[in-house]
Amino acid sequence: MEEKKIICQDCGQEFIFSVSEQEFYREKGFDNEPKRCRDCRRRRKAERRNNRDNDSDRRWE
Ligand SMILES: [Zn+2]
Repeated sequence: MEEKKIICQDCGQEFIFSVSEQEFYREKGFDNEPKRCRDCRRRRKAERRNNRDNDSDRRWE
């Protein structure tokens, strides 16, 4: 296996889909490659969480 370069769908930056990440994906049974870089994935995850429950984040303040 080789690492792959993928263009992030959100920010347009090229990012590396590393061999260890590919193995992780395969282990999880994901067929698709990630479409977003790590930062954008993390941001989207955080946004989803915020949208679902606005008040729950207050405890982090
Ligand atoms: Zn990105």
